[in-house]
Amino acid sequence: MIDIQKAPSSKLDQVNFDNLTFGQVFTDHMMECDFKDGKWQKPIIKEYGPICLQPSARVFHYGQAVFEGMKAYKDADERIWLFRPDQNFERINKSAKRLAIPEFPKEYFFNALGELLKIDKAWIKQGFGNSLYIRPFVIASEAGVSASAANEYKFMIICSPAQAYYSGEVRVKFSEKYSRAADGGVGFAKAAGNYGAQFYPTNLAKEEGYQQIIWTDANSHEYLEEAGTMNIFFRIGDKLITAPTSDRILDGVTRKSVLTLAEEYNIETEVRRVSVKEIVEAAEKGELKEMFGSGTATVINPIVGFGHKGKKFELPKLEDSYARFFKDKLMKIQYNEAEDKFGWRY
Ligand code: PMP
Repeated sequence: MIDIQKAPSSKLDQVNFDNLTFGQVFTDHMMECDFKDGKWQKPIIKEYGPICLQPSARVFHYGQAVFEGMKAYKDADERIWLFRPDQNFERINKSAKRLAIPEFPKEYFFNALGELLKIDKAWIKQGFGNSLYIRPFVIASEAGVSASAANEYKFMIICSPAQAYYSGEVRVKFSEKYSRAADGGVGFAKAAGNYGAQFYPTNLAKEEGYQQIIWTDANSHEYLEEAGTMNIFFRIGDKLITAPTSDRILDGVTRKSVLTLAEEYNIETEVRRVSVKEIVEAAEKGELKEMFGSGTATVINPIVGFGHKGKKFELPKLEDSYARFFKDKLMKIQYNEAEDKFGWRY
């Protein structure tokens, strides 16, 4: 069902696994599957390397492209696990549909992932924090600059070894001017353009000393929605609050897992709109205990401070932080070190 063309040699011994920059090194193999003549053709696993496209390929002109981000983990017995990959599969097809890209068959996705991880399994290192970052993506490969949905696409999966990632202290700016997504738009999709459009405002925020932006709703900029590649949680008192997903917000796998675990451990949660005013007031009263982001790359990313309309706020340092609690719980499930009550490991 899959054509497997093994790479003639491995690059593995050229890689320093103690000094990896995220997303810079890729494994020996990749998966490539073309859509043409109205259907997805036979997937091929072959040596990782450049692909050949016409300069007129639609993806370069109209950004018809979607992607996913997921990870594989190796446990103490050398078994390899994915975390809720069904969610990523469903999400890439949801994204694809919004971008008028044909949906990818489930058995192709899982067979290709399985074969790719088998053939490159030596690239996945044991140890808490080590993982293989998996990047499935689809691009409109058809030549010709007509501004309409392409008839030809390429679905690919590439993999990059990743180390435990410490992003340093993260301070965020609540967006006052720029927006990431609009009602009826593509915010819920992992569409390439959503990310490209964030770089400029994020660079401006970096000049002001922030690492990331928390996007607010495009209409009023009064409600906090999500970060660039993370959903966002607030802890006021002992209550955990996050915005509901919508057509502007990505339905994060980590986010929904945190909500499930919170229920399991009797942490009170509220999924509702969160206003800038509420968070600023809670911070001023000392009731805002924590903010953190959730996403595949860092699992849980604590936020130490935020800025809004020129005012800067620092959050307290907690011994019993929810961020640490959820990160530990999630990672133990991911690395097969804890019971998998919800059937999340694959
Ligand atoms: N929001 C955005 C915009 C993202 O790109 C991501 C990363 N996929 C997330 C949230 C977190 O989603 P997940 O937990 O599925 O990685």
